[in-house]
Amino acid sequence: MQTGLIIGLLAGMLHAAAAQDRPAPVIVCFKNPDALKRDTLISAEHTLRRVEKRLGAPIRTVYGECPQIRAFVVGFVANPPAIHPPDVLGATRTAGDAILPDTRIFFRAAAAMLRNPSDQNQGIALGNIITHELYHYLKQTRHHDGSDLNCEFLTERQLLATR
Ligand SMILES: [Zn+2]
Repeated sequence: MQTGLIIGLLAGMLHAAAAQDRPAPVIVCFKNPDALKRDTLISAEHTLRRVEKRLGAPIRTVYGECPQIRAFVVGFVANPPAIHPPDVLGATRTAGDAILPDTRIFFRAAAAMLRNPSDQNQGIALGNIITHELYHYLKQTRHHDGSDLNCEFLTERQLLATR
């Protein structure tokens, strides 16, 4: 808990420093412990790139090890742990009021919402779920503004949106 708080505050300070010139890129680290297919990951990466403007920051994706302390870590996990409802799509860690750059995306729950869970469609859905969690982190808010980037509950149509 204590360590989490310190990391959260440090990330906030680095963002404040970078805000003086153009927005610093957000480094997104993909971790794939449950062997999600590569084509799906690439489709998720493309989907993320499409929302850069609307998130207000360029996004760089790396696989595996994170090069920077303030990188946003995305772990692709097959199923949510028992503390979450079984249909939850993603969860981001928090410490007190801080939203931490540490997200799990539950890819079987996402696939179950799609009538055609092709590799590409799954990747688009995962990219949109990551965007939702990234919004919480970048804005440092737990709230949902109801926009299509940040609805509390995503429909199949919103999951497959390619904007
Ligand atoms: Zn949310």
